[in-house]
Amino acid sequence: MTKFLADSTVGKLVKWLRIMGYDTVVHTGAADRVLLDRGVREDRVVLSRKKELAGRQFRGILLVIDSDRVSEQIDEIIQRLRLTPRQEDFFTRCLSCNDLLGPVCRENVKDRVPPYVFKTQHVFVQCSRCGSIFWPGTHQERMTAILNRHNPTDRP
Ligand SMILES: [Zn+2]
Repeated sequence: MTKFLADSTVGKLVKWLRIMGYDTVVHTGAADRVLLDRGVREDRVVLSRKKELAGRQFRGILLVIDSDRVSEQIDEIIQRLRLTPRQEDFFTRCLSCNDLLGPVCRENVKDRVPPYVFKTQHVFVQCSRCGSIFWPGTHQERMTAILNRHNPTDRP
């Protein structure tokens, strides 16, 4: 599965790539040679909006993102890398830590999520590092829309 290294110019994108299950880390330093070298070293596709980077000599894969809208940025990445996001990979990573999430018993989250969420959601997952609890509900529609755009054969 493709892994990503994002610089600070595409910060919002990170959360969405993690939602889709892609291993995505943020480079907090400047978008320069160090960023590119790290991409090669960690075998990650480098994501940035800095057009100057495109001129650098680089052994890895760099995507200079055109759009400033997150949904279009996701489209760009999926199309240019020919990715096929799969629903079963969604919500497998912590949106804050990037760590893999594990199953958590529904009864155990009762006091830790809003009552409405507990009532309406049936599947919960938890980050072993930070303890955050996630459920697909809120992002489901948006993610399904993205999937449908890229998997036209799945349409009825
Ligand atoms: Zn976490």
